[in-house]
Order: sequence, then C-alpha cells, then structure tokens
Amino acid sequence: MTRGRTAPGSGHDDARARQLARRFAGVFGHAPDGVWRAPGRVNLIGEHTDYNDGFVLPFALDRSAMVAVRLRRPEEPGPDGGAAGHDVVDLASTWTPDGTGLSRARLRVADLVPGAVAGWGAYPAGVVHVLSGPDGVRVPGFELLLDSTVPVGAGLSSSHAVEVATIVALDDLLALGLDRPAMARLTQRAENEFVGAPTGIMDQSASLRGRAGAALFLDCRSLEAELVPLPLAEHGLTVLVVDTRVAHSHADGGYAARRAACERGAAALGVGSLRDVPRDTDLGALDEETARRVRHVLTENDRVLETVERLRAGDVTGIGELLAASHASLRDDYEVSCPELDLAVDTARGAGAVGARMTGGGFGGSAIALVPADAAERIAATVAEAFARAGHRAPDAFLVAPGDGAGRVL
Ligand code: ADP
Ligand code: MG
Repeated sequence: MTRGRTAPGSGHDDARARQLARRFAGVFGHAPDGVWRAPGRVNLIGEHTDYNDGFVLPFALDRSAMVAVRLRRPEEPGPDGGAAGHDVVDLASTWTPDGTGLSRARLRVADLVPGAVAGWGAYPAGVVHVLSGPDGVRVPGFELLLDSTVPVGAGLSSSHAVEVATIVALDDLLALGLDRPAMARLTQRAENEFVGAPTGIMDQSASLRGRAGAALFLDCRSLEAELVPLPLAEHGLTVLVVDTRVAHSHADGGYAARRAACERGAAALGVGSLRDVPRDTDLGALDEETARRVRHVLTENDRVLETVERLRAGDVTGIGELLAASHASLRDDYEVSCPELDLAVDTARGAGAVGARMTGGGFGGSAIALVPADAAERIAATVAEAFARAGHRAPDAFLVAPGDGAGRVL
C-alpha cells in the first residue's frame, strides 16, 4: 500500500490550511480572505443511477481540495496596474503534470463563455460562470490557490472537489446564502455546461453533504438525503481503494452511450426516466442490449435500498454481497468495467474482502473493497501481485474513511 497516504484527520486539515495560506501570501503577496475545503468521494453503491433520477449511496472522503481565496478590492489597482482589471481571476494550483512548481491560469469574468477556458481553470471558471449568469450575481475578480489531496483522474471526483471548494468559498465571501442542494445543482451545471462533461448530481452532493462516519443516501430526483451511519471501525472494517491507474474519461463515448441507452429504454417503456419503471415490468420488448442496460439501473436502485436497510439495521458486513452483485451487474449488464477493475475486485474478494466493486463511472478509475482492517495491507499486496502477474501497470492502493462535507477551514 502507498505509504503515508492514509486518512489525514481534521487537525491535519487545520495545519494544511495554515500552510496553504502562507503559500498564498508567497504567491500573491498578501493573505487570503479565508481557506475552504471540499472532499472527493467514493460511491459505496448506486452506480449509473444518478442520471436516471435514482438512488445513490456515496460517502465524502477524508481527502479534499483546499482553496485559499481573496476577492479583489475595488479600491486596489487591478493586476495590470490599471483600474480595468477588477474582474481578473488569477488561479494557481500546486498540482502540475510533472509534479513541480504551480499550474497558473488568468481569466476575466466578462470573458467566461463555455469553451473559452482550457485545462483545469475550467472547473473554477465554470462555477463563476453559473453564479454570474443572466439572473446571477456580479462576481468580482479574485485570487485562488488550490491544493488537493484527492488523487487526480482516479475516479474519486477530484474535479468536483475543485468546483465545490470554489463554490463554498464564493458563497461565503459574497454572502450568497446558497443551500447545499442549490450548490450541488450549480456545480453540476458548471460541469455540464461549461466544462462539457455530462455528469450527474451525485459527486457534488457527496462532497457538499457528506459527514464523517456516514454515507449519504441520496434521492437524485428530489435531492432528499439521509446520512446513514457507516461505523466501519466498530466492525473492524475499512475501505481500501485500488486506483487501477487506467485513465477513465467521461468525455469519451462510453458514458454518453450509456446515458443514451437509458433514455432510449425509458422512452420505449413510456416513462420519463428509469426511476419510474414499475418493478415487475417485462423488458422483453426492448432490444437485448438496451434491456441489459435498463436491468442494471433497476436492480442497482434496489441494491441501494437494500444496502441502506442493512446499514440501518447495523449489518455492515451484510452489505458485502450487495457490493459484489453491483459489480457483476456493472460488468455484465452495463459493461462499464475493464480487466483491471475486474482483477482488483476478484483478487480482493479472493484475499478476504467482505465485498468489492468498481466505483465511479467505470472504464478505468478505482475499485473499492470493504476489508477487515487488519487484513488491508495484505489484501492490497495481493492485488498488486496479481496486477504484476497479469502485466498491468502497478495499481495505487490506499485506505479511506467517510469524512465531513465541504466547508470553511480558516
Ligand atoms: P476525477 O474527477 O475522477 O479525478 P476528472 O478527469 O474528472 O477525474 O478530473 C480531473 C481533472 O480535474 C484534472 O485533469 C484537472 O483538470 C482537474 N483537477 C483536479 N484536481 C486538481 C488540482 N489539484 N489542481 C488542478 N486541477 C485539478
Ligand atoms: Mg471528475
């Protein structure tokens, strides 16, 4: 297992925030107005159900994107020395492709139209764009320094963590008074309309509404949510993430094709969304492939409800078989797994995991395994050996725990 990558606690967040504020002062020449954080997420169960108005059960991670932000003051000169620069947004991130220096971007609020910003700046820019839309508020320029402990591109929603950290910071600084469901909808629009990724509502909701020690049971239609206790440590369990390091990309056709299949299925069954398909519906009228896609969504919704029932009853170990069934359905009916994810799941289960499944959109990214805490190291090593034997790139494995949702740190 990767050393030093396990669960930093909230004391750690405070120290991290102070360090980020110091670094901000080094980069921008003055202190930030504050520091905010937003976690990544893993989805325990309920995959590809969010955009079908269904049920999901993610939890917020104890890994987060942190942003130090300072609004530009109207009385200060703009960054170009003149009065005109008050809507300039200066972005910097400690994450760079080669791991050194800072990634920086500069843009103007007035210039923000979809497609105008390339690279990671599109995530914070997308948030500014949706906040300052036709019915929106005037967002002034600002400086933002980002540092994230959510692994990038591992399917743990590092991208939503950036968006959510940005929106909680701006909501706070501009006193917008947005509630959490509203922030979830806005960041979803930022991702859909500005970044151009057709993602659902789950990831932002988990990041905004998660709580330490709990999973978030979310109805993606109403956005009603319930925090369901997930007392892993009390049951001697922990969650092992295996990042296959196979690049997943929502931009690529697989995700869009699955969404289209769901829409096709719903139309053929005469409902607005697959959420409304009655339980005993005969799928025989659909073509074979569409029927399998629909069956995944229907059975996955049921598995979420059953998982919630078992957790409410305190049966944490009992959810293992539901995780396994979810993976099989994603692999066989929905066809969004890949050899590396299957190998991670099968090997973890063979080595003693209580349950395991791919998490996130699929086609790569990460698998999660619910494992006895005292066996985590051994199971991670067994998975790594299996990857080496199969000739796959070495996976990255680490432990996560359900952490608190987004908020101000400093
Ligand atoms: P995931 O959300 O699963 O990690 P995505 O491909 O959706 O993967 O998002 C990854 C992208 O999010 C990165 O390519 C980058 O643009 C942006 N991103 C995430 N974390 C950071 C960071 N710390 N600094 C800069 N950009 C980031
Ligand atoms: Mg993402």
